[in-house]
Amino acid sequence: MNMQEEIRKILQEKNAVLLVHNYQIPAVQDIADFLGDSLGLARKAQETEADTILFAGVDFMAETAKVLNPDKRVLLSAQDAVCPMASQLLPEKLISAKRQYPDADVVLYVNSSAECKAIADCCCTSANALKVANAMESNTVLLGPDRNLALYVNKRSEKRVIPVPAEGFCYVHRFIDFGQLQRARQEHPNAFVIVHPECNPDVQEAADAIGSTSQMLKIAGESDAREFLIGTEREMVYRLQKEFPEKKFFPVAETAVCGAMKKTSLQDVYNAIKREQFEVTLDREIIEKAKKPIEKMLQIT
Ligand code: SF4
Repeated sequence: MNMQEEIRKILQEKNAVLLVHNYQIPAVQDIADFLGDSLGLARKAQETEADTILFAGVDFMAETAKVLNPDKRVLLSAQDAVCPMASQLLPEKLISAKRQYPDADVVLYVNSSAECKAIADCCCTSANALKVANAMESNTVLLGPDRNLALYVNKRSEKRVIPVPAEGFCYVHRFIDFGQLQRARQEHPNAFVIVHPECNPDVQEAADAIGSTSQMLKIAGESDAREFLIGTEREMVYRLQKEFPEKKFFPVAETAVCGAMKKTSLQDVYNAIKREQFEVTLDREIIEKAKKPIEKMLQIT
């Protein structure tokens, strides 16, 4: 029995479910019970009847699963899989922004800590940020921690969307630059270009479509194009290629690799479920407060 088969066997014996993000390495993607983006993973975490949720992703995703399932055991495969963007927003910063804009609603990207979520009015993902912002009562929305996502929503919404912090970013998407996109287009002149809303505004404007990873799957499935350039973490190309083997997918930037997502190896997944290690624990009060904005997002979408 190889390691992938052994993991699947242990998961079954322990009534555990393996949730895997689209940016994980192919060997881990291939054994997922569910493979998806933050929104899809949050939904699955809410629905599951398994006793244990094992996450192959990063810390905030496992925390979201714990908030939605406080009585279940939630494990993170690699303890050091920590999203650097989530830690760019501290609760004090958010509280100070709320003081500055007392009438604004706070919409927080799920890529944030549970402590920050506990202060938010609603959560969002890159797949639903625009819909969530539009559903808020106030005409002003504080949105963080990703500035590019806030600008993307601001441009398409009638609301005034203010990024908090002013310069929050995902380094994987920020460093996909316009020059790389131009060179990639020269190499693949017939390709349809889809980029993530965490990319810089000039990259977004130069693309044919903008979307979260789940929206990329939808767009690629519905498009007549045979070739695609994908502006997000490089591993998304593996997922797309597997779903649509008759089409061709290329990353806009080979260098777009998330170090946090790549912390998880197949061995880590095996160790985590075998030893039941790296359990996510959160303060009950934080769970109660963070649950409301997450559930509100799931209701809205
Ligand atoms: S891709 Fe960006 S937002 Fe996602 S986990 Fe990596 S650093 Fe965080």
